[in-house]
Amino acid sequence: MPKRPDSRRSPRRHPMRLRTRLLLAALLSAALALAIAYAMHRSPSPTTLSATAKHPSPSTPRVLPPPAFVPQPPESPPPAAPAKPMPAMVAQPPAAPRVTRHAGKPAAVRFVLVIDDMGYHQKIGEALLDLPLDITFAFLPFAPHTESQLELARARKRDILLHLPMEAADKKWDPGPGALFTDMDQATMHRIILEDLAAIPDAIGVNNHMGSLFTENEPAMRDFLGLLQQRRLFFLDSLTSPHSVGYAVAGELGMLAMRRNVFLDNQQDKELIKKQLDSLILLAEKQGIAIGIAHPHQATLEALRDFAREHDNNVAMVGIRSIARVPQTATQQQ
Ligand SMILES: [Zn+2]
Repeated sequence: MPKRPDSRRSPRRHPMRLRTRLLLAALLSAALALAIAYAMHRSPSPTTLSATAKHPSPSTPRVLPPPAFVPQPPESPPPAAPAKPMPAMVAQPPAAPRVTRHAGKPAAVRFVLVIDDMGYHQKIGEALLDLPLDITFAFLPFAPHTESQLELARARKRDILLHLPMEAADKKWDPGPGALFTDMDQATMHRIILEDLAAIPDAIGVNNHMGSLFTENEPAMRDFLGLLQQRRLFFLDSLTSPHSVGYAVAGELGMLAMRRNVFLDNQQDKELIKKQLDSLILLAEKQGIAIGIAHPHQATLEALRDFAREHDNNVAMVGIRSIARVPQTATQQQ
């Protein structure tokens, strides 16, 4: 085996050339390494991403949809069931309702409370806005304190509605500035709605102030709701008339709408209001969700202060945004 040691031995005749070759090889490998590193940096492969991502868990939601009112295509891809366009507002994860008081697990019973007529009662309005409760506030468009209270509601990240004045059945009830009447033509009605909305630019939906006559008038409600739908706003029927067609027409249009379940303060007595609140919560427990409406009265403020202090952690008041949905049609309700 004489050849082997020979073959291992370095060639004697060209020592300089070997060194050059080694140097070249080293330079080439370095250049190659640099090139690979650069390429990886420029266009990381999906595996690189998932290997380096801090939260790669598949259960982690991807980029959440923007808060509300993402324009949808006129016809969403038809789901199997009745054609309900999936509204942007219900796209929020239902498991994460905006609950103010309970950081841990979500409360089992959720309900919505809307305070109407905001903008007129300065002190009580502000005290209500200061409560540590996720109240939804409905503002009259041209009331003296609308601007300042709107500012507070915005700062506290409360859900805001336009409380739109509408014609009452009893002519001696004046709905106030910015009101809709059944004898208006469509152009006038639309102009007024847009002016009202401009006064409450943060509104995510609209509920009616008074309107016992207007909400019974189907053509008028169809015009009104059609415009809300175009603006991607929902309608909360305050149900000032038992014969309101608002919810049904909204259902036909396939737009988001809700109905008030309980008025809390028809009688301004703290204990009675607390009883109404209890029945609202009981209803929420029974039917999954319930909506109450109250007003800026002293007794209401006191009842809600008690509620904020005393209520069971299993019960949570949530902003109306978290429950907005398309109404079921009459046949689905049966
Ligand atoms: Zn009102």
